[in-house]
Amino acid sequence: MTNTINNFFLSGFNNASYFDRRKAKYLFYIILATLLFVVIATVSQLYLQLGPVYLSANLIALAGLVTSLYLFKLKKTNAAGHMMACTIVFSISLESILVDSFSNDPAIRYRLYVNFTALLAVYFIILSFFREKKYVMRYALAFELLLSLHAAVIYRQIHTIPKMGAYTIEHFCAISIGMVIIAAICTWLLAYMEALLQQNREYAERFKLHNEELEKMVELRTHALQSSNNSLREFAYIVSHDLKEPLRTISGFVTLIKKELHKQGLDDNEIEEYIAYVTAGTRQMELLIDDILTYSKLTEAEKKQETVNVTGVISMVRSRLAKSIYESDCDIHLTPVAPVTGDTAMLAQLFENLLSNAIKYRNPDRTLKITIGCNKGANFVRYYVQDNGIGIPSQYFDTIFKAFKRLHSKREYEGTGVGLAICKKIVELHGGEMGVDSIEGEGSTFWFTLPLSQIELPVVQAV
Ligand code: ADP
Repeated sequence: MTNTINNFFLSGFNNASYFDRRKAKYLFYIILATLLFVVIATVSQLYLQLGPVYLSANLIALAGLVTSLYLFKLKKTNAAGHMMACTIVFSISLESILVDSFSNDPAIRYRLYVNFTALLAVYFIILSFFREKKYVMRYALAFELLLSLHAAVIYRQIHTIPKMGAYTIEHFCAISIGMVIIAAICTWLLAYMEALLQQNREYAERFKLHNEELEKMVELRTHALQSSNNSLREFAYIVSHDLKEPLRTISGFVTLIKKELHKQGLDDNEIEEYIAYVTAGTRQMELLIDDILTYSKLTEAEKKQETVNVTGVISMVRSRLAKSIYESDCDIHLTPVAPVTGDTAMLAQLFENLLSNAIKYRNPDRTLKITIGCNKGANFVRYYVQDNGIGIPSQYFDTIFKAFKRLHSKREYEGTGVGLAICKKIVELHGGEMGVDSIEGEGSTFWFTLPLSQIELPVVQAV
């Protein structure tokens, strides 16, 4: 039943804005409540057999309220609001003033209060519906006029009606002025709040629009950045991959030329030297391509997230570097190392680069000693690879981690200058930091931090 009434009257406002819909709903329920009240009043007045003035006032009110419902159905909400307010005001005045003028009813004083309350209620309904100063003020003036008229009638009868002695004109004035003051304050407060709300709504709307624009922009740029990153990575991969092919051809044919010359008895120191240059060049090129290839593959997308048994990784690296470990006759000490969360292959690459550097940059005058260990923090592990090699001057502590930065010529030490850049990138991909402490001539300690694994693996004893 309620749903049918709602659908019938409110369906016309479905496409209206949120605030218009709320306003319409509010007015609709007020009209319904008033109608119910007037019906009850009419029935009870008929039952009590009150005079025809009461009945006619109530019938006028009923007619007015039905008209206002009709106007509401036509979506003329403002007109419906005015109709309802005017009807109520008119019927109350008709009832009060006429009845009071032509009767000697001792209950008149009490009815005055009832009328005050009724008018005040209508006033507040109007106030909260129209929320416009101009309407609110006009209604306030109309009510004031009615109440004054009412007061004049009562004042005329005051001496003739029994028990009316306690009522004075001052009494009435105090109530009436009080009502106007309250109404005025409420109007201003309401207008002020409405303005604030409106401002907030506008800000929120603007903020939302701005946010949406920003989000779209960020999305577009991220997309562009991602695709340019991907193409760059693909480019580096393809270039370095394709470069290896001609390199293998050069290297193969240089070996053939060398053999052929040897067969023809054309061994010559100078030619031998030139061929050595070509071979060294191709070897260097090969190393460089391998490193660039490794570097270009180091991406977030490629990184796996697994629990890495670092002790196992180091053993694997040691067997990969077995030849150079044997040749350098080094002494590797491994203190227990904690497991971490990360990519096993990448971490193996990291340890391999550091270990091979420690072997490569050893001091020929003393036995090479390498210590690999770690210190546990709250949720990270700090690993270190320490050697007693040639060391690094402190002004190069940052430089050496940049790609292609080397402190030695290729004649002194073979290399590309990409090894430490690869290490740093791997550590950063794992959310850690990397650095070096070193004393020139005494040795270096390369350190890095990695997130600690949540799974506790058994700690492997020192080797
Ligand atoms: P590469 O070894 O190919 O030159 P890296 O990026 O691995 O390139 O190293 C950069 C530079 O840092 C090296 O040229 C070397 O001078 C210095 N370096 C790296 N590791 C060590 C080490 N353990 N001891 C001394 N110097 C080192």
